Amino acid sequence: MSYAQIALPLPLEDFYDYWIPPELASRISVGMRVRVPFGRRMITGFCVGMAEQSHVPADKIKEISDLIDNKPVVDDRMIAFARWWAAYYQCSLGEALDASVPSETKESHTSGNYMISLASPETVEESIAQLQEKYPLQARVLRFLKECQMPVEREEMRRKLKISLSPIKTLMQKNSILCSFQENSPDPFYNCPTLPPRAVMLTAMQKQSLEGITKAMEEEKFQTFLLLGVTGSGKTEVYLQAMERAIAKGKESIVLVPEIALTPQTVTRFKQRFPKVAVLHSALTPAQRAYQWKQIDSGQIQVVIGPRSAIFAPVHKLGLIVVDEEHEPSFKQQNTPRYHARDIAVKRAQMENAIVILGSATPSLESYYNGLQKKYHIFYLPQRIGTAKLPKIFAIDMREECREQKKFVYFSRPLIRSLEKVLQAQEQAILFLNRRGFATTVNCPACGYELKCQHCEISLTYHKKKKQALCHYCGYEAQAPDDCPVCHFQGIRFLGAGTERIESILKATFPNARIRRMDSDTMISRHHYEEALQDFSDGKIDILLGTQMIAKGLDFPKVTLVGILSADSGLQLPDFRAAERTFQLSVQVAGRAGRGEKPGVVILQSWNPAHYAIQASLSQDYEKFAKIEMEFRKQTQYPPFGKIIRFIIEGQDEKAVKEKAQEIAKKAKESSTCVIGPAPAPISKIKDKYRWHFILKASKSSEILQSAKALKNFITTTKSIKVQMDIDPISLL
Ligand code: ADP
Ligand code: ZN
Repeated sequence: MSYAQIALPLPLEDFYDYWIPPELASRISVGMRVRVPFGRRMITGFCVGMAEQSHVPADKIKEISDLIDNKPVVDDRMIAFARWWAAYYQCSLGEALDASVPSETKESHTSGNYMISLASPETVEESIAQLQEKYPLQARVLRFLKECQMPVEREEMRRKLKISLSPIKTLMQKNSILCSFQENSPDPFYNCPTLPPRAVMLTAMQKQSLEGITKAMEEEKFQTFLLLGVTGSGKTEVYLQAMERAIAKGKESIVLVPEIALTPQTVTRFKQRFPKVAVLHSALTPAQRAYQWKQIDSGQIQVVIGPRSAIFAPVHKLGLIVVDEEHEPSFKQQNTPRYHARDIAVKRAQMENAIVILGSATPSLESYYNGLQKKYHIFYLPQRIGTAKLPKIFAIDMREECREQKKFVYFSRPLIRSLEKVLQAQEQAILFLNRRGFATTVNCPACGYELKCQHCEISLTYHKKKKQALCHYCGYEAQAPDDCPVCHFQGIRFLGAGTERIESILKATFPNARIRRMDSDTMISRHHYEEALQDFSDGKIDILLGTQMIAKGLDFPKVTLVGILSADSGLQLPDFRAAERTFQLSVQVAGRAGRGEKPGVVILQSWNPAHYAIQASLSQDYEKFAKIEMEFRKQTQYPPFGKIIRFIIEGQDEKAVKEKAQEIAKKAKESSTCVIGPAPAPISKIKDKYRWHFILKASKSSEILQSAKALKNFITTTKSIKVQMDIDPISLL
């Protein structure tokens, strides 16, 4: 063959023809990565086909410069899979393949982490003060290291601070920080022992589900099951046994879990059952990831566990895909290519004749609807295992509490009393608030001035310990003013509460309690997180307070109280899924209580307790909620009854962004489908880019995809304006 078809990770054509130079001809094959010239640069692409002929004129065709791999990194099945989802999500084949294969799978010589620490902790305050004005990013790095009080992994710090490598490099050159290389084992969960199999007698309902799943597996017939089971009903046990069946048939399984649920506790549960488990999570170093990938590719792994990108794991004999907490928004990738791992999991299983189990106590309405339509088969697990009962949930009307206490309060009296009881009985409590920081707004009551990010249309959150106001979108930091910068009024207010404020109130109220705050400010690295969970498990913590980090998957039998501080804080969001999210979160958090022998109690504080999402979560009645919510969705033709695509137009020039949005929306309106907008996005500016959006809605999938395709050809992304298409968006912010 003389020509290769190369898929490039660019939002352009699916592939381009390149000439194969003779020296590469015997080595190249489909599925390998290559280096090719494109325009004036060199880029890495995937060889997806070969041909004798090319329609590109001989004097125009360029040649492949180099091969990256010695053997293919993707096989025909993975290419076919990528082709399918690229077409669905309107990205190019190259973009899809690029998202499927970790870039570091090529031989990597680093097998460890770069650990960063302060060179002279004694003088760090001075250095920060010196750098603050002119080099705020460098100051930010130093402050971060000061807070950590231990060496931090470089990439983790970069992710947290949303910064590039350059301020770190500069600080290294100035000898302000030290960098060391820490070797690590290729498998971070290396030391986990495998236990001898424990005979678990399944409950009747578990048995029924497993039998249905096994039957489909025996027939090697693709099918999707929705396991709708309350928290603690034994869903995971069903997954584990289904995997055992798959292994017995010589098949491999993929388990997708939300990243934050990928705790040592979860992983241990799988590792104890199966000797050959690969865990893919975002804190892996490139070398570790490459190692795991190779293990999977070589067929030595029975079970792969990971967050959304694990759906691309190169297993060759796929038998089963489990998507745990299938309703979780984190399964959707939030930048291009914006795939939904749960949805493409179903497609991958179909292409490879495998079985899918979607599990949740609060499924997405999309999956539930597919169940009702008999596209998926639903199994119900309505009760907790053994004598454990679902916790009792009590709603507290915070408006009434404030009236009766004659002041604004964050803690209701019933919550305080319940905490007292838990402490007395030496049990444990979990408190949930979905916001970090101390105060959510900093404003001036005299003139209405509000402290905002300089780069985003977002109020800054005041962090008391840091003595800084931070933007939670871009990481921008500002000094909180003592008096108003506009009218000089000396009474700036710090309003609203995040976990930091709640922690300080809690400490003042219960001075003897052992309290731990768990949010991304205190859990600086994975290590802190794992340590905190271990301490909680060992009974060294009485009250665990946290953000959504504590909402998922934690299974601690001594927890008898869960407090939800503000259950309806998400209800105001301008998103048609606001009620669904509120319900899901309340039920998930509540589910952390009463998992052991002692029954659990949940105190749910709300400013709007009559809302149906709150009411339904009190009885933890999924079907009741779904019934009401479905009615709204049906009337408005939102998913699952209609399909939507969101267009996001971004750029630095506000006027140009607006005009572009209007132009594309006008074009969209020509093809008759329902168009909502254009309008400024609810977050109208992020990182100095103005954002407009509009939504395309249709009743049929085929109809809307056709319009999307037509529009795609019309849209041209330029350097100054970026247009993104989000098929089946899960966020409208
Ligand atoms: P879920 O995934 O629905 O939250 P789990 O599978 O974690 O539920 O089960 C909750 C607890 O009950 C776990 O500690 C699990 O080991 C235990 N368990 C599950 N099924 C059984 C069973 N059939 N018999 C005894 N214990 C079980
Ligand atoms: Zn910002």
